[in-house]
Amino acid sequence: MSDLQILFCSPEASPYAKTGGLADVVGALPGALRQLGCDVRLFLPYYRCVRDEIPSAEPLLENLKIPVGLHKATVHIREARTSSGITIYLLEKDEYFDRSYLYGSPARGDYEDNAERFITFCRSVHPLCTLLNWFPSVFHLHDWQTALISAYHRFHWIYDPHFSRSGTLFTIHNLAYQGLFPGDHFHATHLPPEAFSTSGLEFWGHCNFLKAGLVYSDFLTTVSPRYSREIQTPEFGYGLEGVLQERHDRLSGILNGIDVDTWNPETDRLIPARFSASDMSGKKVCKEALLSELGFPEQTRDRPLLGIISRLATQKGFDLLIEILEELMSLPILLVILGTGDREIEHQLKKTGEAYPDHLKIVSQFNEVMAHRIEAAADIFLMPSRYEPCGLNQMYSLRYGTIPVVHATGGLDDSVVDVSRYPHDGTGFKFEEYTPEAFLEKIRLALNWIGRKEKWEEIQRRAMAQDFSWTRSAREYMKIYREIVRAGRPGQPKVQASSPSSFDQFDDSFTPPGHPSDNGGSLDSSRKQP
Ligand code: ADP
Repeated sequence: MSDLQILFCSPEASPYAKTGGLADVVGALPGALRQLGCDVRLFLPYYRCVRDEIPSAEPLLENLKIPVGLHKATVHIREARTSSGITIYLLEKDEYFDRSYLYGSPARGDYEDNAERFITFCRSVHPLCTLLNWFPSVFHLHDWQTALISAYHRFHWIYDPHFSRSGTLFTIHNLAYQGLFPGDHFHATHLPPEAFSTSGLEFWGHCNFLKAGLVYSDFLTTVSPRYSREIQTPEFGYGLEGVLQERHDRLSGILNGIDVDTWNPETDRLIPARFSASDMSGKKVCKEALLSELGFPEQTRDRPLLGIISRLATQKGFDLLIEILEELMSLPILLVILGTGDREIEHQLKKTGEAYPDHLKIVSQFNEVMAHRIEAAADIFLMPSRYEPCGLNQMYSLRYGTIPVVHATGGLDDSVVDVSRYPHDGTGFKFEEYTPEAFLEKIRLALNWIGRKEKWEEIQRRAMAQDFSWTRSAREYMKIYREIVRAGRPGQPKVQASSPSSFDQFDDSFTPPGHPSDNGGSLDSSRKQP
């Protein structure tokens, strides 16, 4: 066993609670770190969907009183174990988490009490560790929902000798989701007034929870090297590029891995036939089965099948796709799109779908089984994201010999090698300029290559041989954990006997900063599409 104790604090973890790739990361990375000897545990809200998945979670701590604004929230903590043996602590507060969605409903938008829900989550970490008498070397925080933990650590917990040697690592899975709340919510955090400043979590008069993670964490990571550079530019920085530039020496990008057991064409039980790089016959069976399941007419079934699996969000490049869709339909191809999210995007896709029922199928579901079947069946996978912190589906595609056509951004650029530039090493097709023409041109090029059977099979074999296992990423995270532990906390006040050391002593000890302008909830970009 290594000397590293890591507490993952996350709003999502696969397979219990998921809206996107963050859940996949938190579902898989702890297992890989454990294999390398870390003592990793996970802290997660006990949402309704988690309770349904783990009804046997045992009560661990009861009736903790967590100060939030002027009141104290009473919470409980349950404990369970994942199939890979990771201990999960679950924050139970039905009033906050026993809901149909994680962050808001499609009809009514973000839940109005999201700030309160996640302040409570963040503040619960201190009593959890104290009562367990388990003090992590590193709190590994994921996205805005957990970012305040770094501020609590910096301003409060550091004075507790048990916590003074811990460090914080904040991983940005998507900078666009910031947890932005009206400024008058600041008092509910119980942070000192100095935290509500431009060098703290204040952002144009609002509270920006994500920014707390950026400024107060000991180290920052993003989920691909290219995205770590992109977010330091105005184009991708969402107004936080300056903050990120200032921290560039404490910021690095680690490409996500994928769960190579769940996504393995040789063992996948969710697909009708299995296959490998040395015997691709099963892939053909998968394609025939899917085409017939989706109702593509017999006479079209020898066409190349293009697939998309995605949240329906502008980030994912649907503006480009919608522009070229008619022209794409004039080519001898079939296209299947699996996705849920933005109603307008869904409407536009369906409109074209109705005009081409024999060639285009839109499946408006969040359906993991179907996701596996599409990955296995398709010849080409389309991922034209405007930006993509890492992206998982292009890696699943490579593993299933489904050649990706991607925009050269973020993790898409880091995980796909362009066949046009590197014909002997290429694993997919990348377009540089974010335009419909560039996208269409790469699709046409891919279709040309598919006609050259032997060459195409070579690309498939190379794609399937790529190593996207979590072990590679986990080793890089280990290096950062060690650096955080080694660096200690320079510049921090030394812990004194007279320093506040108990959690409750911080209650209401700081006055809130005035009440800066409040434009209501319209600026709240706190969630992904459910
Ligand atoms: P993001 O986190 O931005 O949504 P990623 O590519 O990192 O994008 O991860 C998306 C994850 O969600 C993948 O595991 C993908 O398969 C899954 N996913 C997205 N939409 C659907 C859907 N409609 N049905 C099934 N799985 C989906």
